[in-house]
Amino acid sequence: MGFDTSGLLPLSDALQGMLEQLACCCDTEQLPLPEALGRILADDIASPLSVPPFDNSAMDGYAVRLADLAAGTPLIMAGKAFAGQPYQGEWPAGHCVRIMTGAPVPAGTDAVVMQEETRADGERITFLCQPVPGQNIRRAGSDMAKGACVLGAGTRLTPREMPLLASLGIATVSVRRPLRVAIFSTGDELKPVGTPLAHGDIYDSNRYGVKAMLARLGCDCLDLGILPDNPDLLRAAFIRADQEADVLITTGGVSVGEADFTKQLLDELGEIGFWKLAIKPGKPFAFGRLPHAWFFGLPGNPVSAMVTFDQLVQPALAKLAGQRFERPLQLQAVAAEPLKKSPGRLDFQRGILCQGPSGLEVRSTGSQDSAVFSSLSRANCYIVLERERGRVAAGETVTVEPFGGLLL
Ligand code: AMP
Ligand code: MG
Repeated sequence: MGFDTSGLLPLSDALQGMLEQLACCCDTEQLPLPEALGRILADDIASPLSVPPFDNSAMDGYAVRLADLAAGTPLIMAGKAFAGQPYQGEWPAGHCVRIMTGAPVPAGTDAVVMQEETRADGERITFLCQPVPGQNIRRAGSDMAKGACVLGAGTRLTPREMPLLASLGIATVSVRRPLRVAIFSTGDELKPVGTPLAHGDIYDSNRYGVKAMLARLGCDCLDLGILPDNPDLLRAAFIRADQEADVLITTGGVSVGEADFTKQLLDELGEIGFWKLAIKPGKPFAFGRLPHAWFFGLPGNPVSAMVTFDQLVQPALAKLAGQRFERPLQLQAVAAEPLKKSPGRLDFQRGILCQGPSGLEVRSTGSQDSAVFSSLSRANCYIVLERERGRVAAGETVTVEPFGGLLL
């Protein structure tokens, strides 16, 4: 892989190196539509029918034939068409049909004239404007044509897809089973929330962040808790995770020197690469495979753990889960204040993006130390500063990446 002279691996190389090795590992299952929310489609969906299924009115008004209007005299109302109750009577010359939104247009209709453009005198309807052919008619198949691919395999079903599938009459969908992800935190200093802290202890925060992100991604999480820096306990946990999950994600213990146990064990159990990434925060990162499961070792520093998960692990999990992954949107904004930066790593600084008087403006959330968790919580975007860039002056243009669904 493309390590440079600094020995640091660029993010794009790390991502490409991982994605090349990964393939979807989740079988397919059939689920009733309401239970499929958040799941990933296993197959393309071709529309089994045309939507709308018939030509219908986009307005409350009158269905007319242009030939009848040519005389310039009022038309007589022949009857009424409602949504769900088509007009089935005769339609003699010189007549129009009262029609409501969604009702099928009677055969022969050239246009629908909205009610506001007419004057009614009992059954005699005067048309105040000349309609254009086809006006206010929603044509059969104009939204989705029968047989057309409306959703591709790999699409995650969100509230936006549910009504679309329902409109096609699809009651059961073929989706991927959720990816099973085991997680644990490592460190003698870590205590779970709800217990007192002794001197030198801190609360394990990473597991709560990782778990929350896995929930957003629709993964099934096997939470193995906190593991002390003890090789026998760690070995047992690695083995259990490998047997029960598709993926193991750990935090802590991957930085050089301090990581000896983890590194030794992973060398013993699988093939894991320990990388120093050219990004900030998040330098130490481990990736590889155990006998059955993929392994991602995130840095212990809380902000680094969140950022490496978001930027690297998320696309990898998407691939394993069979999900089509789209890179997040990046925008240009003006730095409203100077930003500290030294060349050498790609920075994901935490920023607050807002609409200024003349466009998008971004500010820093303050200290960008990877142990300062409040910097992430107050942010709504990353300020992505190119690797070779140095300090940014106020007024310079910078790239920002608004937080996506994972962090919202
Ligand atoms: P490590 O990567 O294990 O060297 O940890 C780096 C820093 O992150 C240390 O200050 C750890 O105490 C801290 N840390 C590691 N794991 C966690 C965790 N699960 N929650 C909060 N802080 C952690
Ligand atoms: Mg540690």
